[in-house]
Order: sequence, then C-alpha cells, then structure tokens
Amino acid sequence: MHELSIAHSIVSQAGQAAERAGAGRVTAVRIVVGALSGVSGDALLFSYDLATEGTLLAGSRLEIRNVPVVLHCATCDRDVELPDVQLFRCPVCATPSLDVRGGRELEIEALEVEDALPPLATSEP
Ligand SMILES: [Zn+2]
Repeated sequence: MHELSIAHSIVSQAGQAAERAGAGRVTAVRIVVGALSGVSGDALLFSYDLATEGTLLAGSRLEIRNVPVVLHCATCDRDVELPDVQLFRCPVCATPSLDVRGGRELEIEALEVEDALPPLATSEP
C-alpha cells in the first residue's frame, strides 16, 4: 500500500529528528499534505499506527494539515487557491492556468516530543 510506505518514511524522518533533538518520545507529528500529493488521509492515518509500532513514535498522534492547490494566474498576476482540483483555472477571473505553485506538499511540519531522561542520567560515552 502506497500510504504504508509514506507512513514508514514519515516515522523514520520524525524518529531521526527526535533523536537528534534528544527527545525520549514523540507524542504528535504534524504533516502538510497538498491536494495534489495523491495521499489519502484516512489510509495514511491507518498506516501510521502500524508504522509507529515499536518506535519512538509509538502511540503518537498524526495530524494532517491539508493544503489546497495554488496556481499562479498570469492575468491577475498573483497566486490563487483552487477551490476544486478538477478545474485548473483562476477562481477570480477564470483564466486557465497550469502554473502550479503549491499543492504537492508532503512533508513534516512539526513534532511534539517529550523529553528524554535528564542528560545526567544517560549513559552515553
Ligand atoms: Zn486570475
């Protein structure tokens, strides 16, 4: 399943970031998912629970922030958000545009972590 491999990749990236930050546990991961990323939020949430098992992220929450497609409209000379991904045209002046400026995002935006043991109590060399 596509979403399961995405979930594994999120877990691995978030786990590495948490380790670098010295976190003991990740309690939540917030990701940005663009309307054009082709990711199903429900499938991803389901896969996430599987992918986090036995990791620093076990039991954490996955928060998905959906972002719309953003097109650049040459007529309006600005970026506009598409209300509907079926129609690639400016919602203001109806000029067709394929100049996509946003909506393909699939990235970790924030981690919520719990601190590890106090530094003095760790046994690292
Ligand atoms: Zn326009």
